[in-house]
Amino acid sequence: MLKTVQGPVDADELGMVLIHEHLRFRDEAVADEWPDRYDGQAELDAALQAVGAAKSRGVQTIVDPTAMFGGRDVRFMARVAEQTGVRVVACTGIYSYDYLPHYFENRDVDVMAEHFVSDLQQGIQGTEIRAAFLKCAADAPGVTERVEKIHRAVARASVQTGAPIMAHSMPAVATGPRQVEIFEEEGVDLARVQIAHCGDTDDVDYIERLIEKGVYVGLDRYGLEMFLPIERRNATAAELLRRGHAQRLIISQDYCATIDWFPPEAEAVFESQGAIRNWSMTLVFDEVLPSLRELGVIDDAVFSTIFVENPRRWLTA
Ligand SMILES: [Zn+2]
Repeated sequence: MLKTVQGPVDADELGMVLIHEHLRFRDEAVADEWPDRYDGQAELDAALQAVGAAKSRGVQTIVDPTAMFGGRDVRFMARVAEQTGVRVVACTGIYSYDYLPHYFENRDVDVMAEHFVSDLQQGIQGTEIRAAFLKCAADAPGVTERVEKIHRAVARASVQTGAPIMAHSMPAVATGPRQVEIFEEEGVDLARVQIAHCGDTDDVDYIERLIEKGVYVGLDRYGLEMFLPIERRNATAAELLRRGHAQRLIISQDYCATIDWFPPEAEAVFESQGAIRNWSMTLVFDEVLPSLRELGVIDDAVFSTIFVENPRRWLTA
């Protein structure tokens, strides 16, 4: 059984899954203070368009790891799910590279964990919608004291509830091994842990060392050329598949149907500068999988392992 924004579903009904996509990404503080700077209808339309396109490629479930500081809004997710008929899976957790509000600075790890457990077991933002997994992040500053606190809170909530964990990582500063170490120290079942964004490096040995700990690794930022171009992402995926790691790989795009990090004109500039390329919720189906099939590393069975079985196993054990 798995909790989605539309209610519980049988694990076998999840079908084909995109495991890391954002229906909307924005800072909740800015959006709360200056709501008139956001076009709610345009945001909804963009999410409907992106999810509809994924659906037309056969996607039945989208896992949206938008947490605190990404403007998580489960009512928005539920609207998109209802209007598209695609299942959406929500998370709880904190997406921060270091900053923590005083609220959490001055409360201990277990209190933070209790907030996450409440989202997993009672409901989110005053709704009956419950989170199905936990989210935390480590990026350029590394695993700072505050980032470690969030990781430990996420870990404790996982131990308490059995919910899986997705951890945003940054291979360029090798956060992954330390993140896994913290989960291990807290007694988390590493088979329920996913280290996201490993595909931002083509250091296959670095990724393999993580896989050897028993975690899933995300090759989940296809289209974000500023971190690594598609061809090098494919070469990494191909080598990991040749080494027999299909059962530990996650493939996705980390696409944001809308994102407020940059002014609206930035997307065209990024595209023209090659920082992003065909970034969308369908890129892996339209471009990546055909290339991987051509390389002879993906057939129908491996496809189903990566897009059906791995997500189900990670989410529901
Ligand atoms: Zn993401």
